[in-house]
Amino acid sequence: MGNITTQAVVLRRAEYRENDRMLTLLTPEWGRVDALARGCRRPGSPLLSAAELFAYGEYVLYQGKGRAGVVSCQLIDSFYPLREDYDRLRYASYMLQTLGAQAVPGERTKELFLLLVRSLKRVCYLPLDPRAVTAAFLLMDAALSGYRPRLHHCVRCGKRLEEGQPVFFDIEEGGLCCRDCVSSERPALPVTNGEVLWMRDVLRVCIEKTERPAEDAPLPLLIKYLEARLDTRLPSGRSLQ
Ligand SMILES: [Zn+2]
Repeated sequence: MGNITTQAVVLRRAEYRENDRMLTLLTPEWGRVDALARGCRRPGSPLLSAAELFAYGEYVLYQGKGRAGVVSCQLIDSFYPLREDYDRLRYASYMLQTLGAQAVPGERTKELFLLLVRSLKRVCYLPLDPRAVTAAFLLMDAALSGYRPRLHHCVRCGKRLEEGQPVFFDIEEGGLCCRDCVSSERPALPVTNGEVLWMRDVLRVCIEKTERPAEDAPLPLLIKYLEARLDTRLPSGRSLQ
């Protein structure tokens, strides 16, 4: 009860009544928080920029008996350039939607929160391929959520996978499997050697430092993988593939 001050990013917003918006916020300590931004659509409202998608700031929230409300916000970044680049906007929106489907109230999500803020900065300001940044976001999200894919040994027979050997990805088991273990009864998705090296490298050194080509980022595979793990389907993911 009372006021809490927390950093947050707006994952979703919905118009509410005449001048209000219902916000879905991701916070580091309290996971998802649904909060009403009262009067934010009135011209000149101090909450105007705090109630936009992607808004990242220091929020003061009032937690009463019912739903939380936004008292004030010190904006840190609106990621404004995303609005001027439709392609980057699509990828950044998908990241918000992924966390919107994933975050639950009351669960500490500090690492995922930092991953989101860093990924939004990468896609907004850095000369990186937004498709590869999104793939890296999904891979790190999976790893932080306890689904780090196994990329060195076959998930079915346990044999070590040698460099250059044909491999497949088993979504259910969460990692690579060798050709001997794939059959029509137990299929798996084909994955290239370059894609395997990209995933290993991003897990090891992160996206800024990898020297693997951005084209090797297996985005469709990682969308399928994370959505299967989270048991969700985000329609916008299809359009990114
Ligand atoms: Zn095997």
